[in-house]
Amino acid sequence: MKRILIVEDTVELAEALRDSLEREGYEVALATRAAHALAMAASHPPDLVVLDLGLPDRDGYHVLEQLRGRGVESPVLILSARREEADKLQGFRLGADDYVTKPFGALELLARIAAHLRRADAAARHAAGAPARQAIVLGDDDLRERYGLTARQIDVARLIGEGLTNTEIASRLGVSFFTVRAHTEQVLAKLGVASRAAVGAMLFGP
Ligand code: CA
Repeated sequence: MKRILIVEDTVELAEALRDSLEREGYEVALATRAAHALAMAASHPPDLVVLDLGLPDRDGYHVLEQLRGRGVESPVLILSARREEADKLQGFRLGADDYVTKPFGALELLARIAAHLRRADAAARHAAGAPARQAIVLGDDDLRERYGLTARQIDVARLIGEGLTNTEIASRLGVSFFTVRAHTEQVLAKLGVASRAAVGAMLFGP
């Protein structure tokens, strides 16, 4: 059974969310404070975290930073009333996987949670079943010195090589789709290849 940690200090909202997730067959834990959330994540690592930003002790960004710093790779979905782009970007920079603005539709949230869990499972299977994919053929030094890629373009190239779309890369790096598209064009041109698959083959081997 997948375990979801909800970090939310508005108790009615947290309990309503817990009830709908439990009806979907998830095991749900609730934390109303940042410190509580970190302790719970350490004792029972969750498969996914739903994280409010405004908490009574520390904010959700702190929780996210601590989780990622401790090597927790589970998807983190930020649930917040903050609509500012800067808040979203800050979340993605710290390693969030998704950002849902309150008020939100319960069905949409459930669908997003299911999608993140599926993707995390697929990534785990991929990592277990395809170790050759981990063997990097071109290192960062090669990409920088031989091909003239900038640090940002190296990040983009690696994510292209992992099979991410420009939209996914934009949310992973916390930059706009158009920025990623421009970097992608540069990466293809500098590497002298015509397709995203060819980038993957250069970086990770065929
Ligand atoms: Ca709150």
